[in-house]
Amino acid sequence: MPRTHIIGAGLAGLATAVSLARHGGDVTVYEASGHAGGRCRSFFDAKLERTIDNGNHLLLSGNQATMCYLADIKATDSLIGPVPACFPFLDLRTGQRWRLRPNAGRVPWWILDSRRRVPDTKVWNYVSALRFSMAGTDTTVTDCVGDTGVLFERFWRPLAVGALNTPARAGAAQLLWSVLRETFAQGEAACRPRIPKRGLSAAFVEPALNSLPQMGATVRFGHRLRRISYTSRRVNGLDFGSKRIRLRDGEAVVLAVPPPAAAELVPALTVPDDTHAIVNVHFRLTSPAGLPPKLPLLGLIGGTAQWLFVRGDVASITVSAADALASEPAESIARKTWNDVAAELDQERDELPPYRIVKEKRATFAQTPNQVKRRPQTGTEFANLYLAGDWIDTGLPATIESAIRSGQMAARAIAGNGAAGASRA
Ligand SMILES: Cc1cc2nc3c(=O)[nH]c(=O)nc-3n(C[C@H](O)[C@H](O)[C@H](O)COP(=O)(O)OP(=O)(O)OC[C@H]3O[C@@H](n4cnc5c(N)ncnc54)[C@H](O)[C@@H]3O)c2cc1C
Repeated sequence: MPRTHIIGAGLAGLATAVSLARHGGDVTVYEASGHAGGRCRSFFDAKLERTIDNGNHLLLSGNQATMCYLADIKATDSLIGPVPACFPFLDLRTGQRWRLRPNAGRVPWWILDSRRRVPDTKVWNYVSALRFSMAGTDTTVTDCVGDTGVLFERFWRPLAVGALNTPARAGAAQLLWSVLRETFAQGEAACRPRIPKRGLSAAFVEPALNSLPQMGATVRFGHRLRRISYTSRRVNGLDFGSKRIRLRDGEAVVLAVPPPAAAELVPALTVPDDTHAIVNVHFRLTSPAGLPPKLPLLGLIGGTAQWLFVRGDVASITVSAADALASEPAESIARKTWNDVAAELDQERDELPPYRIVKEKRATFAQTPNQVKRRPQTGTEFANLYLAGDWIDTGLPATIESAIRSGQMAARAIAGNGAAGASRA
């Protein structure tokens, strides 16, 4: 297998490296910053005196690529969540609570059971879900399920906003269908919510950084790729400023950087060019809290906060598609979201605890039909240059699963194309 240079140590770059190195590939990863993980990382916050995540990340047990990656880096036990699958919700306007409880097997009889489905909905409300399977490239979520009604407010809207980080009226239906097809349509075992037990870095990043050297791979931090040099059909050099690498015949490059960085480095590359924000607020509580009924997550309807997660004495809320909220001052965001969750955590509403707000203004690309059409394939017009990242055309929303799958796709393309890539020089 040719030597491979991987640019970017986010999950896409790490997954590429792990996939290649475990099959004996000669791999070096170059990361611009001083840490790995990119948009999926933990850091120590001096104000809260706790290690927190840049944002809460929710996965589903049916995220196959992610589960394979975790197995490869020996971190399968780093995620937790309820078994059997259960999604607790609270409507902040009415106080009504429910738990979505999909059943085992592919036939979704849970929809027939009023105790397992969304309250105040009827069986036939769910039939519109079939339209996702026929969605075209221009179809939005609301084209499939409309934009009114209890099921929309309590299920389709939160699902679309959470999975696509895009308002439901603009979100690409085909992407939501891929989530439904790979998780909910497979039954309970594929749609168990999963969150990191100790944090994002402990789950996805540190085990990879520990495993890669053992597999013979190298990770270099503080290496920002500034320029790629090309012959007509190949990459033949990488310029990191203080260091330049001349590629030998047979060597490959995987660019696992965000879309704007890739567009600067590759001539005439079309990439998604619109983004949406995600805002997270982390509250340090006076004592460890648990959510009734002792699940680590809660979906919230009708407020500013959309999801609440609890780990020890840190309660964290997430707001996706949060461009307007992200422009508000920190204290206003903290107060609004604390008002939503204080009672649920058994805390005084008037006593705002210490908090940290993380505004990821370009959290993911805007997952609209037009932006989805701008996603490139893994291979490029240059024989030894490949792309990876959550924004590559994986058919999935821009998520951990997409990032990792894109890395595995790049690794497969290199393994399958090594000789061809070299001979086309
Ligand atoms: C707040 C937030 C919440 C999220 N919630 C969820 C969730 O609940 N569930 C879920 O599945 N997904 C979620 N996501 C999405 C998920 O984090 C991303 O899909 C995933 O981390 C993207 O990984 P990546 O490797 O494609 O890109 P990145 O993480 O952006 O990695 C790119 C890397 O390339 C490096 N780089 C850039 N330019 C250069 C250069 N020139 N040279 C060298 N290195 C360079 C960067 O420093 C970075 O480390 C969330 C994202 C955010 C921000």
